[in-house]
Formats: sequence, C-alpha cells, structure tokens
Amino acid sequence: MNNATPEPIVIVGAGQAGGWAAKTLRSERFAGRIVLLGDEAHPPHERPPLSKAVLAGEAAPEATHLFKPEDFAKLDLDCRPGARVAAIDRAARTITLQTGEAIAYGRLILCTGSRARTLGVPGADAPGVRYLRTIDDALALQAQLVAGRHLIVIGGGWIGLEVAATARKRGLDVTVIEALDRLCARALPVEVSEHLLALHMRHGVTVRRGVGVSAIETSGSGITVVLADGHRIAGDQVVVGVGVVPNTELAAAAGLAVDNGIVVDDAGRTTDPAIFAAGDCTNLPLACLDRRVRLESWANAQNQAIVAAKTALGQDVRYDELPWFWSDQYDMNLQMLGYPAHWPESVVRGDPASGSFSRFYLEDGHLSAIVSINAPRDLRAARKLLQARKPVRPEDLVNPAIQLQRL
Ligand SMILES: Cc1cc2nc3c(=O)[nH]c(=O)nc-3n(C[C@H](O)[C@H](O)[C@H](O)COP(=O)(O)OP(=O)(O)OC[C@H]3O[C@@H](n4cnc5c(N)ncnc54)[C@H](O)[C@@H]3O)c2cc1C
Repeated sequence: MNNATPEPIVIVGAGQAGGWAAKTLRSERFAGRIVLLGDEAHPPHERPPLSKAVLAGEAAPEATHLFKPEDFAKLDLDCRPGARVAAIDRAARTITLQTGEAIAYGRLILCTGSRARTLGVPGADAPGVRYLRTIDDALALQAQLVAGRHLIVIGGGWIGLEVAATARKRGLDVTVIEALDRLCARALPVEVSEHLLALHMRHGVTVRRGVGVSAIETSGSGITVVLADGHRIAGDQVVVGVGVVPNTELAAAAGLAVDNGIVVDDAGRTTDPAIFAAGDCTNLPLACLDRRVRLESWANAQNQAIVAAKTALGQDVRYDELPWFWSDQYDMNLQMLGYPAHWPESVVRGDPASGSFSRFYLEDGHLSAIVSINAPRDLRAARKLLQARKPVRPEDLVNPAIQLQRL
C-alpha cells in the first residue's frame, strides 16, 4: 500500500489496541486520513488502572489516557469518541455509524475489544449489581466503596480479586464467591491459586469457593446474594467479574470468520484482505504456543495492534509474542509469562513464605512458563530462556547462587 494513499484507514474501537494501531500508522509514516471511532466518551485509554489506582481513588481517570493531549494532537487523527459503528459494508468498503453516517475506508482495523460477561440469574439486572470494564464503571463503583460497607464480589478471577483487594484497602468488608473450586482457575495453576487464596484470607476477605449464585435479591436495606446451596449473603453492593465476551458481532454480521474471536492470521489479517483486527476481540495463532488463543491482556492488545497496523500498510511482519500478564493485589505484584495449555511440573526459586518467589514450569527440559510473585527480575531474566526454548536444568533455576542471566 502506498503510504500517501488518499484512501482513509478507519479504526473501530479506541482502547489499547485501537490507540496503538493509530499511533503505529503515524510512526510508520502513513500520511493519509486516519479515522478512529470509539463508542466510549473518552479518548484512547488503557484499562489496568481501573481496578487498581483509579478505583482506589489514587489516580485520576485521565491517568489511563494513552496519549498526552499535545502528543495526541500531533497524531492528527479524525478521532470521534461516542461514535458507535453499526455495520460494515465490505463490498462498498464503508462503515455506517449508529447515527446513519457512512464513512469510506481503504483499510479497516477492528479493535472492538471485549465486554463484561453478564450474570444470567434472577435479580442480576438490579442497579446495585455492577460490572467493571470502563472508566465510567470504575468511577461509579468507586463512589460505592465506602468504608464499613460490605461488598460482595461474584467471580474470583483477576477483576474480582483486584476489586476485592482495592475494596479492602478502602476499608470495606469483602466476600468473594467463586463457582469453581479455586481462584483464577482459568488462568493459573493450582499452587498459584492457593497462594492467592491465602493472600486474600490474610487480608480478611471471606472466600466462598465451589458454589454458584442462583439469584440476587434487592431490598431497601441492601442486597442479598442467594447461593446455589441455599445460603444467603447479605451486603451493600455487588460487583460481578465473571469473565468477558469478545465484541465480534460487527465482524460476524459482515461475514468475517469468527470463532471465539475474530479469526486473524499471525499478521493481523482477517478473512477480508482489506480488514485487519487486533486485541481482545481476536482469535490469533501464536507459533510460540503452537496453538490459537484469544488473549485478554494489555501487552497483547498493544503489540498485536502494532503488527496489524504495519500489515495494513503492506509491511511483511509477524506477531509471535509470549503472552505476558500481570496483576497487582495488596502489596503483591504477580507476573506471568507463557500460557501453557496444561501446566506442567514446576520448581520454585525463592521462598514462598517470604512473599517473593518464582515458579518455573518445565516441559521436556525447557521452560514453558514462569509465574513470579514480587520477583519481576526473575521473570525479566528468564524471558530469553523461555523465548529461545533453551534447555535448562531445574537445579540451576532454583539455585540462588546462579544468576538467571547466566543461564
Ligand atoms: C478493570 C480491568 C483491569 C485490567 N487489568 C489488566 C492487567 O492488570 N494486566 C493486563 O495485562 N490486562 C489487564 N486488563 C485487560 C486489558 O485491559 C485488555 O486486555 C485490553 O484493554 C484490551 O484492549 P482492546 O483495545 O483489545 O479492547 P478494549 O480495551 O475493550 O477496547 C475496545 C474498545 O472498542 C469499543 N467498541 C466496541 N465495539 C465498538 C463499535 N461497534 N463501535 C465503536 N467502538 C466499539 C469498546 O467500547 C472499547 O472502548 C484489564 C482489564 C480491565 C477491564
């Protein structure tokens, strides 16, 4: 594609992926018109602080904005907050906004992300039942985090646990209800789930595992969560964090291949050569994992979008980064590199009792994943070992006398 083409590039979704796609188009010297359409009222922004510093009241919502106003102005985007795209006409190469306005594209980049999965039980649509995905959600929830109140968190995954930690910091009583028998079961191996459980219990959170929610009852005096085993938990506020659903409807209605995410190749191409996609909304192949995945991660949204934008400009690039994820809860920083389909045996470097250690997961003599708790240097040092699939000896990994960089 000629970088000076008059054909505009339209990006749908102004989150982490959409913002980075726009920035990359400009840094790669695309001089044409870039239209960035996002249905939220805010400029491009990232979400991780929403369950942490912003929810705690320690950072302003503006801290999540991807660009300083002066840098944003330099990108010279036709950025339209509050603009929802209703349809794509692939034959005419136009998108139509919900207002009816049509916009032509030469290339289209879909960065529509995901939305909070809703809880399908009676009473779950009551106003006291909240979700946390957007800046507006975070501010609305923050106003409810009043010391002394009882917050019930439904779902013991990342969002639920980060909200629980933030609410405890603000002096609320917190109960977490998790339907599965362990926390973060989808993302983490058993031993790390157990570490998280102990952490939250130490901070005074009541955790109910292995039981689902059958109804939510709201009355003038509060809100009661009815569990599947008949128990009733009374509280003041409920937050639901039961996963996300990728926003793929637009792509599916346009006839693009969708299978738990918009199906893309390793360069971000969809099944239409003029349409690309990146971020939470995609189902992507990762050669380093030897399988297709859909990721819900800040780093993936950014780095996959960079590749998709370059591909849209005709560059020959590939995306194959090891999934990296982090979470902050209380004084714990957890980082995870790699995403094995099944967690193999692990060895531990450091002392879990000290609160600072790393677990190295080994398969066939090489590393397949690392989980570091308050030990980010281990993860940084071992990144190359993991990427290169270099053979390693477990005894070397756990030996504090051996620097990981040396391996
Ligand atoms: C509270 C919270 C905390 C998180 N913490 C971490 C963390 O600690 N570490 C980590 O790695 N990841 C974290 N994540 C995940 C990470 O933020 C996401 O993976 C990332 O935001 C995905 O970026 P995205 O651009 O693909 O999607 P999104 O950020 O969801 O952006 C997509 C945008 O597109 C808009 N959109 C959708 N459809 C349309 C349409 N038809 N027209 C116009 N606009 C549309 C959406 O409204 C949204 O604004 C967190 C997520 C949340 C919600």
